[in-house]
Amino acid sequence: MILKSERRLVVEYASDLATLTPGRTGNLSVRDGTDGDAFTITPTGVPYASFDDADVPVVGVDGEQRDGRMAPSSEVPMHAAIYRREDVGAIVHTHSPWSTTMAVAHEPLPPIHYMIVAVGKRVPVAEYAPYGTDELAENIVAAMEAADATASFIENHGLVVTAPDIEAALENTAHVESLARLYLEARSAGLEPETLSDEQLETVIEKFESYGQ
Ligand code: 13P
Ligand code: ZN
Repeated sequence: MILKSERRLVVEYASDLATLTPGRTGNLSVRDGTDGDAFTITPTGVPYASFDDADVPVVGVDGEQRDGRMAPSSEVPMHAAIYRREDVGAIVHTHSPWSTTMAVAHEPLPPIHYMIVAVGKRVPVAEYAPYGTDELAENIVAAMEAADATASFIENHGLVVTAPDIEAALENTAHVESLARLYLEARSAGLEPETLSDEQLETVIEKFESYGQ
């Protein structure tokens, strides 16, 4: 079986999607390393606990399915386009409620909390295009590159996050969702959240280089 460990990761972590995004919305993928030419991805339109390793689609960065019993996510163009442009190992896409609230308002997330540096200095909003299209894929890549960010809201749709591996991609998805919530809750309480300066953000980026065990 090709990409055996990457297929296992998709099956294992698909249940995390269920806690972040409603119903069968959202998808995730795991690449063969951070520069490999193929990735595994959740199947399209199935509940997240209802497929096994052999079902998991394997897709080339050209967007063509190579293996797996089920048809891949409709967002293969988005995942493939990101992998062609960026050396990242995993991608998570959700319609999680707080991020999607920002997305429906076409509001980028400013640096209101130091944890934003997990994904950049702000979270941009990619221009709307129908789900599953090459146009949407291009809009997302362009928004992330222009903001130098590893996450982007998608107008009237949701959120996408990239990372070196699937654990980090899911963790950073949770960070963005939590920051979007803080921002919206503060504003709905009538408060105007203050933002961190570029210099303050740079200091956090430096500190994060040696953070943890
Ligand atoms: P899939 O089930 O095809 O992955 O679609 C879900 C989705 O969120 C499309 O944007
Ligand atoms: Zn979607």
